[in-house]
Amino acid sequence: MDTVIPPARDKLLLTPGPLTTSQTVKQAMLRDYGSRDRAFIERVADIRRRLLGLGGVASPDYEAVLMQGSGTYAVESVFSSCVPPDGRVLLVVNGAYGRRMVRICEVLRIAAEVEVFPENATLDLRRIEQRLQRSRGVTHVAAVHCETSTGMFNPVEVLGALAAAAGARFVVDAMSSFAAVPLDLDKAHIDYLVSSANKCIEGVPGFAFVLARRAALLESRGWARSLSLDLLAQWEGLEANGQFRFTPPTHALAAFHQALLELEAEGGVAGRAARYRTNYETLVAGMRALGFEEYLDPALQGYIITSYRYPATARWDFEQFYQQLSARGFVIYPGKTSDADCFRIGNIGRIFPEDIRALLAAVRDVVMEMGMDLMGDVGPN
Ligand SMILES: *Cc1c(COP(=O)(O)O)cnc(C)c1O
Repeated sequence: MDTVIPPARDKLLLTPGPLTTSQTVKQAMLRDYGSRDRAFIERVADIRRRLLGLGGVASPDYEAVLMQGSGTYAVESVFSSCVPPDGRVLLVVNGAYGRRMVRICEVLRIAAEVEVFPENATLDLRRIEQRLQRSRGVTHVAAVHCETSTGMFNPVEVLGALAAAAGARFVVDAMSSFAAVPLDLDKAHIDYLVSSANKCIEGVPGFAFVLARRAALLESRGWARSLSLDLLAQWEGLEANGQFRFTPPTHALAAFHQALLELEAEGGVAGRAARYRTNYETLVAGMRALGFEEYLDPALQGYIITSYRYPATARWDFEQFYQQLSARGFVIYPGKTSDADCFRIGNIGRIFPEDIRALLAAVRDVVMEMGMDLMGDVGPN
């Protein structure tokens, strides 16, 4: 029988989420708050204020709306609530999360144009600009900030300027980048930014959030295609009495509030960016020394998560590699690229450079144990 792993010995989650959280974030959940409890309502208001601050904006220009569910629910909430019945969306796609937005529009029967780009090259901005000039009636442009399937950062500031020039609203899935990659929503012409509790803010899963330009939110009255995902109604509920319309994830919100305080203590977005970047640099240098090759050109690679090509050796077996790392306390992630076999290693969450060094030591052990010869010089010393 499996032994129960004590909390201090949880495996490190080097994944796109859920992620490793601090002990204090987990401890914040050891309370039962009533959803109408004054302390709880004040905490929700403070969460909403702090989220806007992380995006460099404030009410009344922008509003923070919390939405139950995982990140995808909030993405779906934006499309289902904020695209008018005769609206038309231009979707910029260079990975699995971009494709998910395409699926959302299909299911919602929202008219969409899709510009698909290779997953391992920079976006052709000229093509997007021309598409916007050519297309009639595009009301919304949508893109992913950090395409978590590869780890690529897309130039949302430039895309936002293109959308604004075309008179279209701009929707950004910043799920895996928000609060760890500096971004000023207004300067980037972002009308709706979506992220979730369990990514770079290092909370636990249970809800996501949308930072919306107030004018964009207000124009959407009557457009919602879903009751529970109605973004405007959710905002109006939060504004009216500070409460969620339906059962809020009280424990996840308590954890998230603590996570926001810890983010501030770390130096805010800049502090978190610095730690993640050091994690990334430590990871990449170490993995290269072991003979692993990144999927992306380093110039395109962000510092959130890295995709690695399967090594070209007959001894390679991802499942075995994964299980042996897991047995050593490190959880990595399968790949999500459509044109190459990859696996992924994330370095977000409560992970520090010493954790990455411990991971690298474990990878080295596993490589030797599996008898892989990645460089010709990996072997027992
Ligand atoms: C994590 C993530 C999502 C949301 O995934 P959920 O499983 O619904 O939380 C969406 N987009 C990106 C870019 C992500 O990294």
